[in-house]
Amino acid sequence: MNLLLVEDDPVLANGLMSALQRANYRVMHQDNGRLADQLLTVQEFDLVILDMGLPDMDGAEVLYRLRQRGSNVPVLVLTARNTLNDRVRGLDFGADDYLAKPFDLPELEARIRALLRRGSSGGSAPLQLGELSLDTTGQRATLRGEPIELLARELSVLKILMLRAGRVVSKELLCEQVSCEGEELSINAVEVYVHRLRKKLEAGGVNIRTLRGLGYMLEMP
Ligand code: CA
Repeated sequence: MNLLLVEDDPVLANGLMSALQRANYRVMHQDNGRLADQLLTVQEFDLVILDMGLPDMDGAEVLYRLRQRGSNVPVLVLTARNTLNDRVRGLDFGADDYLAKPFDLPELEARIRALLRRGSSGGSAPLQLGELSLDTTGQRATLRGEPIELLARELSVLKILMLRAGRVVSKELLCEQVSCEGEELSINAVEVYVHRLRKKLEAGGVNIRTLRGLGYMLEMP
C-alpha cells in the first residue's frame, strides 16, 4: 500500500513516517502544499494523509484540486484547528475522514485501515477526456466505447497525459514516471511511445500536441 503523507511539521512527520513504515506501509513524505499538489497530478497513491496548514498551498486547496481532477483516492485530513468550520470546509472539499491533532498513533492506524478497506472495495473512477476513457484499475483504454490496443508503457504515458490534459507535460517527467523496475526511460523511448500513441488516438479526434523544447499536451480539437 502506497501512502502519501503531507505534513510540514518535521517532528510529527518523522514520527508518523517511522510508525507507518513499521506498520508495513510504503510512505512518501511531502512538506509543501504546492509540491504535494504537483506530485498528486503524476503519481497515484492508495491513501493521502493531508495536513490542513501547509506552506505555499493549504491542505483544503490541495484537496479541492485533487477532487477537481476526478481523483477519488481516500484522504484523511489532519488538523490542529479542530473547529467545526475547518471540519466542514475539509469535508466539503472531499475529505473522507478527519483527525484532530494531537492524536494517538493507534487511532490514526485504525482510521487508515478503515479508509483503505473502503477504498479497495470502491475501485477508482475512470479518467475521461471527451470520448477517450482510461480505466485506471483495469489498465484499459477505450475511444468512443471501442477498446484501443495499447502496450503497458503506452498506457502509462497516456495516463500521465490524461491526468494533466490541457497542460504541458515535459519529456523528462514522462521519462521519470514511466520508469520500469526503477529504470528510467530514455527521451528517445518516450518519443517513440508518444508517436505510437498519437497514431492510435488521432482517429478519435484526440491530439497529442508537441511543444518544441517543452514537451507534450493532450488536447481535444
Ligand atoms: Ca501544518
